[in-house]
Amino acid sequence: MRKFSSETLVIATHNAGKLEEISALIRPYGVATRSVAEFGLVEPAETESTFVGNARIKAHHAAQGTGFPSLADDSGVCVAALNGAPGVWTADWAETPTGRDFAQAMTRTWAELEAVGAPYPRLAEFRCTLVLAWPDGSDEVFEGRMPGQIVWPMRGTQGHGYDPIFQPDGFSITFGEMDRWQKNEISHRADAFRKLISGCFT
Ligand code: IMP
Repeated sequence: MRKFSSETLVIATHNAGKLEEISALIRPYGVATRSVAEFGLVEPAETESTFVGNARIKAHHAAQGTGFPSLADDSGVCVAALNGAPGVWTADWAETPTGRDFAQAMTRTWAELEAVGAPYPRLAEFRCTLVLAWPDGSDEVFEGRMPGQIVWPMRGTQGHGYDPIFQPDGFSITFGEMDRWQKNEISHRADAFRKLISGCFT
């Protein structure tokens, strides 16, 4: 496993929320983070059909374009009875001509489960893949998971994305009803970050 030995880490996201969340997780290790947006790079197209494929595209694009090691993530929810959909297309299911609409995406997810007559519990998993890429072309990959089930109707107003219909294993509340700090302790992203930190930063 390659250790991180630079003073600067570029976060390959144009999303301000993700940048802040990732920076806070990395800060205790004495690493300065910078957004890829500062370097004026255009976002690459996510043309792969796997989380790792798309995270690799983003991480290597940033590492090549900035000359610094770069970290990218790709995430989504995989529903067992839908053969893993929406998966890498999780955000796409929310796209509308006027921006993202996650109520629409959640409604579609439930409608598709009803259409196939999926048995209960309607198992699903949030996944997060992190790729740390170096300018010389090498990389390390970390996968995080949070198993649970899709529930209906939507519950809770915390969090983002599909949180109101995802009930993590071991809980009777959805991510949408869960305190943000508690979610950040147990989430797929936390799982992947723990692996990144123990692999490359300690
Ligand atoms: P991307 O990783 O930026 O391509 O986006 C993945 C999509 O997955 C997001 O737009 C969210 O809709 C969804 N997603 C990822 N993680 C979570 C989560 O923790 N809660 C709810 N939705 C999530």
